[in-house]
Amino acid sequence: MDISGIPVLNYHAIDENMAGNQESRNVSVSLQTFKDHMEWLYKEGYKSINEADLRSLVLKRKPIPGKHVLITFDDGYYSLYKYALEILSEYGFTATLFLSTAYMGKLYGLDDFYFVSDDRQLTWDEIRALSANGWAIQSHGNNHVKMNHLDKAALIKELTESKSAIEQNTGKQVDSFSFPYGLYNKMVLDQLAAAGYELAYSVHPGLLFPSSEKFRIPRIEINNMDNMDTFITKVKTGYISPSNALRSKFRDIVYANPSIKDIIEKVTPMFGFGNH
Ligand SMILES: [Zn+2]
Repeated sequence: MDISGIPVLNYHAIDENMAGNQESRNVSVSLQTFKDHMEWLYKEGYKSINEADLRSLVLKRKPIPGKHVLITFDDGYYSLYKYALEILSEYGFTATLFLSTAYMGKLYGLDDFYFVSDDRQLTWDEIRALSANGWAIQSHGNNHVKMNHLDKAALIKELTESKSAIEQNTGKQVDSFSFPYGLYNKMVLDQLAAAGYELAYSVHPGLLFPSSEKFRIPRIEINNMDNMDTFITKVKTGYISPSNALRSKFRDIVYANPSIKDIIEKVTPMFGFGNH
């Protein structure tokens, strides 16, 4: 029996020539890099697990058999439809998209949002095409706002309206969430279940185990800073380095109680552990 954890990879956009601005370059990977990553996973024998299957195993605290990876994208850039769909199909992989629903078909261009070259937001037609090809479309909220800054009413609106917009447009149920910027507090965690979510994905690094906390599933960010060596280390261990692993595991222990996390972040923002 394979009792090792599974890597949940977090991508954003694919930028063919990496011609976007600095922020976009930080969260994008080049087309060639993305192809290299998928080819490596395939050659190493990884299979992409369906998000619903993974969710069911986590909720039942069951071991995850075999050599699996969950490939996720945040936000909802057109480059996923343009590039990722075909590349993943070549290897028999599917992905999960955590979609921000307020910008459908538009360029983002917002100050606090990653402006990825001319990579606009997907349209609902493109979302339905991804869904028809086996991609899971889950929620990343409406407006891509910092959830820990919202009052309760605004928070509930972000959680419920994005969920119902995706459900209406895909005809499929939405059960999982990922936090914009990886930010959350205790109230966000408390409201997830009330809004009907079963799982939420963080950007805390590490591998996913059946014992992982259901509203703070670890995810490994993959971006333009990664080379093939760091990518392989992240997939195999969940962390970029042993020191990052140590720091992250210590953070997870301290933050196990979300109220303590909130207090630490409030009183010592300069010395907080961050989310990554
Ligand atoms: Zn995002």
